[in-house]
Amino acid sequence: MNRIATANNLKRRLPSVNSVLQEMADAIHLRGHSEVSKVVGICIDGLRQDITQGANPEISIDRIKAASIEHLEKKNQPSLKPVINLTGTVLHTNLGRAVLPQEALDAVVRVAGAPSNLEFDLAQGGRGERDSHIEALICELTGAEAATVVNNNAAAVLLTLNTLASQREVPVSRGELVEIGGSFRIPEVMLGSGCQLVEIGATNRTHLKDYAGAIGDNTALLLKVHTSNYRIEGFTESVSESDLAELAQQHQLPLVADLGSGSLIDFAALGLPHEATAAESIANGVDIITFSGDKLLGGPQCGIIAGRKELVDQIRKNPLKRALRLDKMTLAALAEVLKLYRDPVSLINKLPTLRYLTRPLADMQQQAQRLVPEVQAALSNTFHVASKTGYSQIGSGALPIETLESIVLSIAPTAPNDSAIRELSEALRALPCPIIGRIHKGELLLDLRCLDDEDNFLQQLQLLAGA
Ligand SMILES: *Cc1c(COP(=O)(O)O)cnc(C)c1O
Repeated sequence: MNRIATANNLKRRLPSVNSVLQEMADAIHLRGHSEVSKVVGICIDGLRQDITQGANPEISIDRIKAASIEHLEKKNQPSLKPVINLTGTVLHTNLGRAVLPQEALDAVVRVAGAPSNLEFDLAQGGRGERDSHIEALICELTGAEAATVVNNNAAAVLLTLNTLASQREVPVSRGELVEIGGSFRIPEVMLGSGCQLVEIGATNRTHLKDYAGAIGDNTALLLKVHTSNYRIEGFTESVSESDLAELAQQHQLPLVADLGSGSLIDFAALGLPHEATAAESIANGVDIITFSGDKLLGGPQCGIIAGRKELVDQIRKNPLKRALRLDKMTLAALAEVLKLYRDPVSLINKLPTLRYLTRPLADMQQQAQRLVPEVQAALSNTFHVASKTGYSQIGSGALPIETLESIVLSIAPTAPNDSAIRELSEALRALPCPIIGRIHKGELLLDLRCLDDEDNFLQQLQLLAGA
């Protein structure tokens, strides 16, 4: 027989879609008839094409069924999924920043699956305020008169400037024209908000008289931006919040501070580097502060705006607020995270971000001792596993200079091998629950600071060994 006749013979033996579907009741129950039939069709077409190209594939209903189920599973894998963050960066923007505490997760589930009083006043039986669920809490923890929340801190800055400074001038120190991760640059956010940036001072030094000299008839407010992700050192000068507050008051202008990460507690008391707290800024006389929910606060992605009631009321009424408002799941999570701050003692254990940041070295050392032999056993003897001292970062531009002493598992090739470490880190990323480390000087480093779920980590490594 010639090649074409053989191929036609093979093609005639391909089963019909319906005959395969008859064997796939479970899959149809799970995914629906039309979806399964589409995928079976794709698998049969694939075989037909292989045959046309000269292949001689095994043709059986079982084989097509197995291929279809594999295809269906792959197609229904979640794209967004948990990973194990062993990068050493606690608040990793690309890995979703803060991990939420159990209290917040429970609250999300409660409001997500049922109607809620999101904007319904249960006492009056009429329309209520979304902010009512978190405003008193934020005021309690910051000392502010009023507060509102939006989608992230970038939105908080945008909305504040658009409300209070549209078409008017805002002097900002040249030392504070921050860029955060490329997409957020103070000059560009100011442009987008419709206000006009007036640059003052020099990169390393800005004085009170620079602000005073820039204030004119068209000045809307004074803005101070926390230089979260870099530090200018040496011959430097910037103006304190309290001095700026006094100047702003003399000219009857609001003082706005973008705190970036912000914090609700004194980090120095936890043995961590000091970070300006929201309450300090309010006490210093700042009229409006904005800060992130998912940086040092350790909550869901959001931006908090707090300060003088008259100004917060104006911000709330801005029509843009509607476009930037928070979802009910985020509100529910934020409220629970804020409540944890009422007890700073239990907070450190309950809030993952703070638990990671304050994790004792001895704890990580013990974990390393348990893990080194297990990880060595799971990897082939191509690699040598050891534990050593490393340095974690806080991340998300918070406290950029300071690093925290940490313990890392270092995985090195036993013989010089350029690709082995890269291939290993690829294999770890391809696991059902991907393990993300970092490559440094030819070694793969797995920082243990954020490793909560040791069992899951070891299970994943078993899968690696099996593969
Ligand atoms: C991180 C940061 C922002 C942006 O906050 P998001 O919550 O990521 O939108 C704005 N300003 C400063 C100073 C920051 O550090």
